Amino acid sequence: MTENKPKRPLLYYYVMAILIILCINTVIVPTFFSPKVHEISYTTFLDMLNDNKLSKVEITDKRMAALVKDGDEQEIYVTGRIDDPDLVNRLMQAKVEFAQVVPKEPNPIVSFFTNWVLPIAIFFILGQLFMRYMGGRMGGGNFMSFGKSNAKIYVEAQTGKSFADVAGQDEAKEALMELVDFLHNPERYKAMGANMPKGALLVGPPGTGKTLLAKAIAGEAKVPFFSISGSEFVEMFVGMGAARVRDLFKQAAEKAPCIVFIDEIDAIGKKRDGQLGGNDEREQTLNQLLSEMDGFDGGKGVVILAATNRPEALDKALLRPGRFDRRIPVELPDMRGREAILQVHGKDVKMDPSVDYNALARATAGASGAELANIINEGALRAVKLGHPAVQQADLEESIEVVIAGYQRKGAVISPEEKKVIAYHEIGHALVAALQKNSAPVHKITIIPRTNGALGYTMQIAENESVLMKKEELFNKICTICGGRSAEELVFASITSGAANDIEQATKIARSMVTRLGMTEEFDMMATEVISNVYLGGDASLQCSDGTAQAIDAKVLSIIKSAHEKARQLLADNRDKLDKLAAYLLEKETITGEEFMRLLHAAQAEEEKAPSLPPLAQQGSPAPSLNAEAAQQ
Ligand code: ADP
Ligand code: MG
Ligand code: ZN
Repeated sequence: MTENKPKRPLLYYYVMAILIILCINTVIVPTFFSPKVHEISYTTFLDMLNDNKLSKVEITDKRMAALVKDGDEQEIYVTGRIDDPDLVNRLMQAKVEFAQVVPKEPNPIVSFFTNWVLPIAIFFILGQLFMRYMGGRMGGGNFMSFGKSNAKIYVEAQTGKSFADVAGQDEAKEALMELVDFLHNPERYKAMGANMPKGALLVGPPGTGKTLLAKAIAGEAKVPFFSISGSEFVEMFVGMGAARVRDLFKQAAEKAPCIVFIDEIDAIGKKRDGQLGGNDEREQTLNQLLSEMDGFDGGKGVVILAATNRPEALDKALLRPGRFDRRIPVELPDMRGREAILQVHGKDVKMDPSVDYNALARATAGASGAELANIINEGALRAVKLGHPAVQQADLEESIEVVIAGYQRKGAVISPEEKKVIAYHEIGHALVAALQKNSAPVHKITIIPRTNGALGYTMQIAENESVLMKKEELFNKICTICGGRSAEELVFASITSGAANDIEQATKIARSMVTRLGMTEEFDMMATEVISNVYLGGDASLQCSDGTAQAIDAKVLSIIKSAHEKARQLLADNRDKLDKLAAYLLEKETITGEEFMRLLHAAQAEEEKAPSLPPLAQQGSPAPSLNAEAAQQ
């Protein structure tokens, strides 16, 4: 966003001015314009007097100053005054002009001015400057304008973003354009008797482009656009947030038709829970917001947009009709959306024409727009590092892995024995996945350690992005996750700490099958867990009695146990393939999904000569997924 032009630091100018004045007074004036003063002794003075060299003497209480005859007016000779009763006679004799100079009584008005008015004025000015400076730092703008909202105003394309910068998200764009149309053609809606909507809430996971959409709409709407972050309402002083809200709405009413955008609205819009020690300031701000939104009549032409990734935490009053009654979901992009986002960001970098965006989009299931933008950027960085003339497919593929699993840890020391365990573990995952009909094959397997702690990983492929998961698919997924540990058990007859991540994931899936997805007979369609923060990873909390919790645990355990058993059985039945593939991976360190399938098919063809096993199911066209579980902590 284009920030308000930063104010030139006023303090800086004042300090410079004071320094310059000091410099003139202490250095330049004394050296160039003041008379030269020579200190002389009393004897020298008397000598000069006797030699008739002096023309004029001034006497004060403690000192005497003399000018030399025919000398420069600017040369002054000064000596201390000695209690010399003859002095007057001597001066008379020498015929010098002399006088006792009485120290001047200063003008009372001037002295009042210099002693009182001036210091007070200086303190006042300094105080003002200080407060203004502090006010600026606290985000308050001007010291005199506490409680003023500091919403940034954009008109037309000042944000430099338009809908062309937002790839995918067509539904959200459409909903937003409808709002803009309300602002531009209110008559059409009035003629129909329709009320203008007052507000819309953009909800979705982080990095999906909510803030970006708001900036883009500012560019598209061609009406004034106020943008403010929810946290900017939260102030040090109670009542300030409410004052800011009032001011924001006042400004908006003056500029109508216009759009007001409140980013991260959960900062002020959290549920008022009536707990003791609740945040008074936040509640006041929220109340003010609620009443301001009510105060608007729809005809005024002010649309309020807000964005959040915690819609469930918002106060119900905010969401009722007449306030943020429209909810515009901004979800993670699907494959087409990902391809479009990659293309939008690819335009900004020097891209090799051979780059296949579709392949990249297929390899990044589950990635948000922000992650995709990051992948393009990492790819460009890698191209620079390797001295490529343009960003190549390989750069981008590596950067996908960097974003998933961190950088390669080239220096990691792993003993050959451990490497072997890791290879079997990863092939275990891949083989179980491939051997199960409903489970997706793999995209890539590697045993090069990564900086996120993964010692190796298997990138899974979702054949097509389905919106529904069958019970069998979920179960098979758990089997695949158990495949790593099962291979270790089978081959080495011992187990390692490398499956911690797998265990966590398997448990999570099994648990959700029992508690939320109604996939067990025991609990039928009863929900025993609720998920909060759907868009932020989702923490589940149990909602059932202790007895039920125990039964749930038992059921979860039994699901995992049978999945583990199935994985072990599958691998035991295909031990020779496991050995072959693991040896190949150990040698190559990284193998692609195609290599893996080729080897597997070759092994199967051999077996078919001795037809003991049924042929395997056809593998679909690959579309790898980002949630390639990072195996082996
Ligand atoms: P949030 O939803 O958390 O507010 P942002 O709008 O800040 O996410 O998005 C972060 C960045 O991700 C954007 O600046 C942009 O570079 C990229 N991005 C996200 N979604 C898209 C999209 N649909 N098209 C293009 N870029 C996107
Ligand atoms: Mg945002
Ligand atoms: Zn694993």
